[in-house]
Amino acid sequence: MRSLADLASTDVRALRSAKRPLRQLAGTRRDGRGTAEPGAPGGAGASGVVSAAGTAGKGGVARAGGSRQTKLRADALEEMGISTVLDLLTHYPRRYLDRTSQTPIAELEEGADATVLATVRRVRRLPARRGTRPVVTVDVSDGRSYLGLSFFNQPWRAQQLQEGMEVALSGKVTTFRGRRQMANPSVEVVEGDWTGRVLPIYPQSEKAGISSMEIGACVAEALLWAGQLEDPLPGWVLERHGFAPRDWAVRQAHQPGSVTDAFVARRRLGFDELLRLQLLLVMRKRAIERESIGIAHAVGSQLVAAFRDALPFSLTGAQQKAIAEIEADLEKPVPMHRLLQGDVGSGKTLVALWCLLSAVAGGYQGALMAPTEVLAEQHHMSLSSHLGGLSVPSPGSLLPERPLRVALLTNRTTGAERSQVVSGLAGGDVDIVVGTHALLTETVRFLRLGLVVIDEQHRFGVEQRAALRDKANGPVPDVLVMTATPIPRTAAMTVYGDLDTTILDELPPGRSPVKTVWARGPLQAEAAWEAVRQEVSGGHQAYVVCPLVEESERVQAASASEELTRLAGGPLKGLHLGLLHGQLPEREKEAVMASFRAGSIDVLVATTVIEVGVDVPNATVMVIEDADRFGIAQLHQLRGRVGRGSAQSWCFLLGEASTPEGEARLAALERTNDGFEVAEVDLDLRGEGTILGTRQKGVNDLKLASLRRHRKYVALAREVAFEVVDDDPHLRHHPALAAELRVLVDDDDSQYLFKN
Ligand code: ADP
Ligand code: MG
Repeated sequence: MRSLADLASTDVRALRSAKRPLRQLAGTRRDGRGTAEPGAPGGAGASGVVSAAGTAGKGGVARAGGSRQTKLRADALEEMGISTVLDLLTHYPRRYLDRTSQTPIAELEEGADATVLATVRRVRRLPARRGTRPVVTVDVSDGRSYLGLSFFNQPWRAQQLQEGMEVALSGKVTTFRGRRQMANPSVEVVEGDWTGRVLPIYPQSEKAGISSMEIGACVAEALLWAGQLEDPLPGWVLERHGFAPRDWAVRQAHQPGSVTDAFVARRRLGFDELLRLQLLLVMRKRAIERESIGIAHAVGSQLVAAFRDALPFSLTGAQQKAIAEIEADLEKPVPMHRLLQGDVGSGKTLVALWCLLSAVAGGYQGALMAPTEVLAEQHHMSLSSHLGGLSVPSPGSLLPERPLRVALLTNRTTGAERSQVVSGLAGGDVDIVVGTHALLTETVRFLRLGLVVIDEQHRFGVEQRAALRDKANGPVPDVLVMTATPIPRTAAMTVYGDLDTTILDELPPGRSPVKTVWARGPLQAEAAWEAVRQEVSGGHQAYVVCPLVEESERVQAASASEELTRLAGGPLKGLHLGLLHGQLPEREKEAVMASFRAGSIDVLVATTVIEVGVDVPNATVMVIEDADRFGIAQLHQLRGRVGRGSAQSWCFLLGEASTPEGEARLAALERTNDGFEVAEVDLDLRGEGTILGTRQKGVNDLKLASLRRHRKYVALAREVAFEVVDDDPHLRHHPALAAELRVLVDDDDSQYLFKN
């Protein structure tokens, strides 16, 4: 029985069929040189093959050292990133063509993406005239009706497509003068040796100049060579969730007996991909937990009780639940690694503060790291005000207690102030430090770091998370990561797969949801400015977010101050406007924020520096200019700056959308205030690659499965992974599964995950 590792260690060039020359169905090379070489030995040896070799042209043939060398199938496969048998067998068909259940051409739905099987009847090449592109028009028929094809800028189609040839065409169906048409469809020439029922159509093949059927031939040989494939999944998983056996699934995915079988097969193989990924994540998580000595914090301290009693409001149910979950972790001697997800304004900071106090009460220090200076200062201020009057035990000194000490450390903390904070952290008399990545600098050391809270995680990398944790000298501190931009739950299971997740899904009471209006045209924009004037005259305040010109802070700042001038002389004449951008000196920034908070500035004209964390409940309206330029998550985040008090708040998104995606983005924001829903839309629009990035090993292994489309299976895979790993941490009783995982990770990782 062959394993995945066997497949991974076998070169496709070991397959006889991969060493065959390409049949050169067409000069499909993208460099456009390509038409087939008349005398090329394509198709040699394969009897009954309809060779599509054209009649003219060179190309499709590589020259080396003056002698002709024919391109082999393996070369084309290589171009497609396929070098091992495993690569080949995980290069799954893009679609399947079922000969027995073809939709007749006459019944093709207009506008639909369709695949049809038809015979070429007539090929015409229209020469390019001035100002027009060369066009090849082709009529194909299914025996009853005709379909017209137009190929633009693909003159070689005239050689590729010959009368009488059977082709599979995929593309969008349109109608022109009552006739069904397809423009630039993708084409698979069906060769005479296909008598099967379902034809797999492989992706990218045309680009690399290899036909689906040639790939299919290589796959067929690979499957023969492989013989029986080993199934690494425990029987109970297959049974409980109704998954097909691996060997059957691999065969059916490539050579299905029916389209339904192909689907069942892909379901199994896609689950395997997700399961491997989750197994890696869960094993890593458990390994970290096993290996590090953490701190068992004492929860339920007097300090925390005093803090709770002094709060002007009571905790939301979600906050209570979150705190209970986090405290359960804090109490354990295992380092916590937890993600706190909650929509903008759900009160994450308070939860963090609570936990920091638990650490402090036990004599440890806490650190809160924020992504920007504005935010760090904001946190510092709100922490200081919440914690004023609290005291901590002071063993070994004259008095039994001393005031709790909160410090701020950013790049702007300099001179004597900085050395005081730094020595306070090293000496243990600073209890809680709030800061930016300045906390990560070399000179910063802690005496007894017990809890690290990282706010707005998406700005920090995994390494930075680890760097702060490593600042402790002694047991590993607990880590709480907070994100204000929710990501869909299933994506979180992967992006933050090594973290446990807590969700705050409730806003504090007394807030009315922000009403979002997409103001597309100048008239609606005028209404937005009118709303700003109204709110201000009613005693409220406003934000204006300036258009995103380019990434440069300097350019951004310049455009913000221009916009301020424009507004002051126009739509917002007579109001007190303030300016906030990243280029302002720190003192000025602070001064502006302070006067905005105090209410002496009516309207804050700002760049996206206000995106995170700024908290002024009296601000009830936000105007975002040129909203189409921002990402959906960013818009949601910005919008979260209003709606923080009990008054009705508004957010106006100005400008038209330049793309259908932009349209969908802005419409979604108008429709919903729910951050998780916004995140789902984001994932749908941008695709998972952008959310996952390359941060996560094993994501490249996802060929069939999609975090977006298969949310249910992601969750299922995670569940199964926990069950398997918690029962058998090193997969000693699941050797086949362990061997597969080793194929995916490098040696270091493998040693780490599988060592005893
Ligand atoms: P987040 O960081 O999740 O966006 P914050 O922690 O900044 O939200 O909280 C937003 C605002 O809500 C703050 O002004 C905070 O004081 C307030 N707040 C937090 N929890 C509660 C609560 N349980 N009841 C009322 N107000 C709360
Ligand atoms: Mg916050």
